[in-house]
Amino acid sequence: MLIFLERRAISLNRNSSNNMSKKYVYFFHEGNGSMKDLLGGKGAGLADMTVAGLPVPQGFTVTTEACGRYYADGEHLHNEIVEEILRALSTLEKTVKKTFGDPKNPLLVSVRSGAKFSMPGMMDTVLNLGMNDEVAEGIASLTGNPRFAYDSYRRFIQMYSDVVEELGKAPFENILDQHKKSKGYHSDADMSAIDWQEIVVKYKAEYLKRKGETFPTEPRKQLMAAVLAVFRSWNNARAIYYRKMNDIPHDIGTAVNVQQMVFGNMGDNSGTGVAFSRNPATGENHIFGEFLMNAQGEDVVAGIRTPLSIDELKRIMPNVYEEFAFLAKKLEVYYRNMQDMEFTIENGKLYMLQTRNGKRTAHAALKVACDMVDEGLIQKEDALLLVDPSQLDALLHPTFDPKAIAKEKPIAQGLAASPGAAYGQIVFTADEAVKQSKDGKKVILVRIETSPEDIEGMDHAQGIITARGGMTSHAAVVARGMGKCCVAGCSALHIEEEELKMEVNGHILHQGDFISLDGTTGNVYLGSLPTVPPSISGYFGRIMEWADQVRTLKIRANADSPKDAKQAIQFGAEGIGLCRTEHMFFEATRIRNVREMIVARNKEERIKALEKLLPFQRSDFEGIYEEMKEFPVTIRYLDPPLHEFLPTQEDDIKEIADELRMEVRELKQIIAQLHEFNPMMGHRGCRLSVSYPEIAEMQTRAIIEAAINVKKKHPTWKFVPELMIPLIGDPKEMQFVKKIIVDTADRIIRESKSELTYMVGTMIEIPRAAVLADEIAKEAEFFSFGTNDLTQMTYGFSRDDAVKFLPDYYNTKIFLNDPFARLDQTGVGKLVAMASKLGRETRPNLKLGVCGEHGGDPSSIEFFHKTGLNYVSCSPYRVPVARLAAAQAAIRFKK
Ligand code: PEP
Ligand code: MG
Repeated sequence: MLIFLERRAISLNRNSSNNMSKKYVYFFHEGNGSMKDLLGGKGAGLADMTVAGLPVPQGFTVTTEACGRYYADGEHLHNEIVEEILRALSTLEKTVKKTFGDPKNPLLVSVRSGAKFSMPGMMDTVLNLGMNDEVAEGIASLTGNPRFAYDSYRRFIQMYSDVVEELGKAPFENILDQHKKSKGYHSDADMSAIDWQEIVVKYKAEYLKRKGETFPTEPRKQLMAAVLAVFRSWNNARAIYYRKMNDIPHDIGTAVNVQQMVFGNMGDNSGTGVAFSRNPATGENHIFGEFLMNAQGEDVVAGIRTPLSIDELKRIMPNVYEEFAFLAKKLEVYYRNMQDMEFTIENGKLYMLQTRNGKRTAHAALKVACDMVDEGLIQKEDALLLVDPSQLDALLHPTFDPKAIAKEKPIAQGLAASPGAAYGQIVFTADEAVKQSKDGKKVILVRIETSPEDIEGMDHAQGIITARGGMTSHAAVVARGMGKCCVAGCSALHIEEEELKMEVNGHILHQGDFISLDGTTGNVYLGSLPTVPPSISGYFGRIMEWADQVRTLKIRANADSPKDAKQAIQFGAEGIGLCRTEHMFFEATRIRNVREMIVARNKEERIKALEKLLPFQRSDFEGIYEEMKEFPVTIRYLDPPLHEFLPTQEDDIKEIADELRMEVRELKQIIAQLHEFNPMMGHRGCRLSVSYPEIAEMQTRAIIEAAINVKKKHPTWKFVPELMIPLIGDPKEMQFVKKIIVDTADRIIRESKSELTYMVGTMIEIPRAAVLADEIAKEAEFFSFGTNDLTQMTYGFSRDDAVKFLPDYYNTKIFLNDPFARLDQTGVGKLVAMASKLGRETRPNLKLGVCGEHGGDPSSIEFFHKTGLNYVSCSPYRVPVARLAAAQAAIRFKK
């Protein structure tokens, strides 16, 4: 066989944006891999494979633009598109020399969804389309295999009824179960041709009962209905949920692939499977996959029958295995990425049905990326682009303590489908997982097998365990995609879902009982095992090192304590971008002094309380400087509305009243006076320093004295504390607060006869500050964009309350994502870019950073890189994610 997979640049003869002249259908040989936007990932992969001469059943792709038009036209498929599809079908008939609905020589097709980004199992598929009574009979006599013909027919009726008519799977599964029971059969393998024929009759009767009309027999009508159903499935609840979870835009639509059927269920010389060019759980460079003989595709992924390892295929059909392995390698080399392929063997002949970049665990992603560099397949920069930064999150969670594991005996073992350590309380349904996790519980979702409807429950669970299904079952694939721990196919589980209990090797476990899952070994333990913190080493360390070589953005961490600072350094932070000083106040020993400070009747009382707080703050800062050594540390002045610290409990109020020698009544009055209707827009940030300069004085003293002390201990250290004023909205505010700080700091430095330099800067959190950034930069030596508040103030959405109504914005597709998690680049981003430009006009060397939540979000990081910021700052656990995202931004932007 001739296989020439070469990188091609095929210029597309795409017509203008005018709908009427658009091409909505592409034969596989007309497309190529660069057309994912139009043909979807599956369509583009099929095109590539077809053009390269791989054994791909022929077919065509109805474009994502047709899907877009279907929705734009009010869920109606324009006649023009219908005709184009029907014309393509006629051409397909001629090419394959088979005819739709012709019992003597029938064409059957699969109708499969395929969006630009793979959404495994989320949208719909119909197989064996084109069947009716005559065609089934024709196939029976043509193949001499009536069992195969009627098995395919009943599959079609069931899928069509479920997908197109939305009658669900259950009524049909029940009919089949009852039939098998009445005959004493154990599995589908016991079913004869006559049995399948009887099932077909029963299925059609069920359809008639539920729909009030007979099952459609006209293949062209079946086809158009199936295409519409696939388009419709773009907006089913699980697809929408999956898109939200994976940040896939809602408006890109899916393509539909119509492809000649090849049959894996034609007998013992046929089969079907799914395989990866490398192991998607570990990254090991060895073909990894599963297949079933005499089966169709859905049997493998649905976990209904436990499939065989692809290594078995080597034994059963060595030639087919060799050919597949050869093609898998070719495809991997061509795409320079690990491939996930579907194949079917029909009477001993191999067909490729799909290839796409395979989803893999974070661990596998790192290993594959490093191995491919070592194998000379790709360069380091390509390797960095192969790892999804948000996936790294999964590696930054604790793993089970090896010492504890060594002492425990697992109660069962399943397949190590997706690594990680998870413990929690057992639940048996996805709905219960959602409910209990919303109540704050950690849950483990236990299922016989999962289905796409379980997606939300899987998302809410700590880990997932299934009794059936292999490494490519739905549970395994989806869990790997989510970076969630999963043990699959644990056959020792005997689940009684109705009774909310299960039996595992003699242990009876009920809903609410704790278990632990080790997704790296597949082991299951009773109770919750202790965990140990993660570390960056091995492949992870190599990738991080390469990332550091190419990125230009510095990565800092938001850390409020020496402990956080230490963790940040371990994850590779190069400084602290935000130390929220108020977080140091919440400890039991300190909060009382804070409260005294807040409710003080006059300046003297306030100063007295502040003096009690000074040593705490100073020693915290000393600890942080010690951890950070010479890295920069940005310390922010007190920011939140004071009422956040006020006592609400009667006991606390009494205690503070006693301390301040005050009547409880009087204290309650003060507390009432401090109440604000809109505290986020109230007395907070630099406004506190305007009203109470003594607070800024005390904090300056703590910051500067701590720095002097640490410098004395380490005379060679050259760190420059960065003192940051929050919530500035006016240049005069900046001037006013800065003067308090500078006067205090300079006096302390002078009196201590030490040499210390420091910087005073501000956060840009209020749109007015962004607009007046050139003025503000006259005073501020650095800007740090507080994009949490900047988003809040730009939209006028309360950070605390928006969560209640934002879901309506997602449902109505006004918003794709939460603007508090991913920067709104068009609006808030415009302010960031404007303020950066204005600020640097005044002060060309103005240091620019970001310390809002967006500092840890990969797509926002790309924006900050492009905007020319010096650093992003994020929580310590996001630091590795930010390091990689910053490297990817540098690579992509350079390209
Ligand atoms: C911000 O507003 O982005 C910020 C970092 O400050 P905080 O979240 O503490 O208001
Ligand atoms: Mg803020």
